[in-house]
Amino acid sequence: MIIKPKVRGFVCVTAHPTGCAAHIQEQIDQVKAKGPIKQGPKKVLVIGASTGYGLASRITAAFGSGAATLGIFFERPSEEGRPATPGWYNSIAFTRAARAAGLYAGNINGDAFSKEIKAQAIATIAQEMGPIDLVVYSLASPRRTHPVTGVVHKSCLKPLGAPYTNKTVDTDKGIVSDITIEPATEAEAADTVAVMGGEDWEMWMDALAEAKLLAPGATSVAYSYIGPIHTWPIYKDGTIGRAKVDLERAAHAIDAKLKAHGNGRAFISVNKALVTQASSAIPVVPLYISILYKVMKAAGTHEGCIEQMQRLFATQLYNGSTIKFDGEGRVRVDDWEMRPEIQQPVSAIWPQVTTENLAALTDIEGYRTEFLKLFGFGLTGVNYEAEVEPHQEF
Ligand code: NAD
Repeated sequence: MIIKPKVRGFVCVTAHPTGCAAHIQEQIDQVKAKGPIKQGPKKVLVIGASTGYGLASRITAAFGSGAATLGIFFERPSEEGRPATPGWYNSIAFTRAARAAGLYAGNINGDAFSKEIKAQAIATIAQEMGPIDLVVYSLASPRRTHPVTGVVHKSCLKPLGAPYTNKTVDTDKGIVSDITIEPATEAEAADTVAVMGGEDWEMWMDALAEAKLLAPGATSVAYSYIGPIHTWPIYKDGTIGRAKVDLERAAHAIDAKLKAHGNGRAFISVNKALVTQASSAIPVVPLYISILYKVMKAAGTHEGCIEQMQRLFATQLYNGSTIKFDGEGRVRVDDWEMRPEIQQPVSAIWPQVTTENLAALTDIEGYRTEFLKLFGFGLTGVNYEAEVEPHQEF
């Protein structure tokens, strides 16, 4: 079939297998061009490995330091001629490239929150890999069925305490308007913590420790975001921010356990705001990203997921020396985003943006290009007029 993008609000309901493979290759090439990460990880588990930051972490580990990787993700294969989700095609392309390079690449498609998928991962690691030295926890999910209680928790993106009004952009239609979001109830906030907080990360680490599948000195990292005051009510001070506070609590708890196990370590890396399937669903944030891209591209400091993760691994996690933490014990690769010379122009542009001047004042075009690339569209060298087989298997 010929596959074209079909954008519905903040999602694209189609994905292009050849385009996704080209996108993977582009990221592999970028990591290789930076040279080897000499003291990098060797056996890596990535939970949330098929798109965004988790995928970029997996590519960096494999092609930056020759690591064996096991990827956990929740993706839909193609059904009845309908294209699969991009994470399915990404994972197939990654696996082919890794195996062609002589690297182990295992995959488990299923609910990472469940006991069954954890058991499957443990069995795979025991049989095929041996003890893991890096666990990357990079899930972004709208819901979690709790493995003990069976309760289905749904996360939400809402402010806490008071309604929040700010500008937002419909990235598809290019319309800038005000949006008011009512505050979350306590139950909604607690549900968001249950989905995006740290309990599941702790469950993964406990399961690996119990099975004696953590190498002495193992590292674990999960990702967070802070951002500028424009987005604080909906992000840092909202329901998702409360979940991230819990993720930091979990980081400290896991760190203490790993310290006792061969001087291992666990922490949060605060990453840059980037176009991913998860971030495009957050109100206000896509407008911020469009302005941020404009300013950072002009300053020559713009990075995508792959550059962020390559920098995290090469200059922080595996720099051959000590990691630089902020006052809260977090690694910051949002440092370039948060520089005053970036944030000041962003703040100056923010109040001026309207539907009419959106294209001139922001990088909405860059946002759209990045967004379509997530689904395998707009890659150079791919013939989008050609027939392509949507059904792809590992
Ligand atoms: P993403 O949507 O691109 O990736 C989410 C991953 O989680 C995918 O691999 C998906 O398959 C997997 N997943 C979701 N539910 C699952 C389940 N039940 N079982 C197994 N796998 C599941 O998201 P992202 O933007 O890369 O976010 C990853 C992390 O990075 C999140 O913690 C997010 O808060 C954080 N982060 C994102 C940004 C940003 O701007 N995108 C910035 C800083 C930090």
